[in-house]
Amino acid sequence: MKLNEIIKVLEQFAPLQLQESYDNAGLITGNPEMEIKAAMLTLDSTEEVIDEAIANNCNLIIAHHPIVFNGLKKINGKNYVERTIIKAIKNDIAIYAAHTNLDNVRTGVNKIIADKLGLINTKILSPKKNLLKKLYTFVPGEHAEVVRNALFSAGAGHIGNYSECSFNAEGFGTFNAGEGTNPHVGSHGIRHREEEMKVEVILPLWNEKQIVKALIDSHPYEEVAYDIVQLDNFYQDVGAGLIGELPVAFDEINFLQHIQLTMQTPMIRHTNFLNKKITRVAVCGGAGSFLLNDAINSGAQAFITADYKYHQFFDAEGKVLICDIGHYESEQFTPLIFAQLLNEYLPTFATLFSKTNSNPIKYFH
Ligand SMILES: [Zn+2]
Repeated sequence: MKLNEIIKVLEQFAPLQLQESYDNAGLITGNPEMEIKAAMLTLDSTEEVIDEAIANNCNLIIAHHPIVFNGLKKINGKNYVERTIIKAIKNDIAIYAAHTNLDNVRTGVNKIIADKLGLINTKILSPKKNLLKKLYTFVPGEHAEVVRNALFSAGAGHIGNYSECSFNAEGFGTFNAGEGTNPHVGSHGIRHREEEMKVEVILPLWNEKQIVKALIDSHPYEEVAYDIVQLDNFYQDVGAGLIGELPVAFDEINFLQHIQLTMQTPMIRHTNFLNKKITRVAVCGGAGSFLLNDAINSGAQAFITADYKYHQFFDAEGKVLICDIGHYESEQFTPLIFAQLLNEYLPTFATLFSKTNSNPIKYFH
């Protein structure tokens, strides 16, 4: 299996364009053309995980956290990041990371947490803007269906769980074919009037190139008339955190026990009880304190995340039960996403879960 085929599956699910500006998701070591024997799935690609991959004949590691995050200026093995990279390259091991791009998709990191907790009716807690565009094209009526089909199969026209969404209006266009042209209809040097359909479709910006190519390939005109406009809409399928409901209400003690059991966390740091039943829960794997106001505004009684600092706990203000369950603990099930994706789209490809517990934090009871 070529590495780029595996990357294609991962990036169709979590496009790199969805990563945050500070992130470094993507292929960290390795060549997209290399042949992959098997992949090891992990939260962190540490030195120990590289050793484990070598021992298990895996030449690809798929991780959530990018081992190289802040850039490398020298590679002489003075810290664990450099040693990991040296070991990976010396042993021809590719490292791929799907980080904040995987956090930001509705069925990514936070969906696994929500599923473990049994949350239903989940939605993105803080949807993102500036990810959608509108494409308008003008096409002779009898060709409109062919163009619409091409746009839909290239990824345009998705709104929530609806696909093949478009708006169509009849009108007429005019053009005057100049020298050296080969017009589909009309003659040179005379203004031509053609009955046309205006077709509008929405598109996510990471599919723009392939959608424009599909438009140009399927459109009968030599010069395809189209406009692309950036939209200000929120994209409800992409963003930070998730909000969901519990099928049965928990009191706070039982809810903490429920978290402990389902998220396998040895310790939960939490704010004062509110003496409320818990029915709505906001979650964000990893460091999610920036979502506190979204959690409160969404009506959540509890907010499960990690990496909370002392002063940030005060911000709960008796409005929500903050539960810091640990960064590793909140994201430990993330490799399941890689396994599910690869099993679904590349069923003959071998994947192996790393057995290394990469959590650098230990608890003394
Ligand atoms: Zn993380």
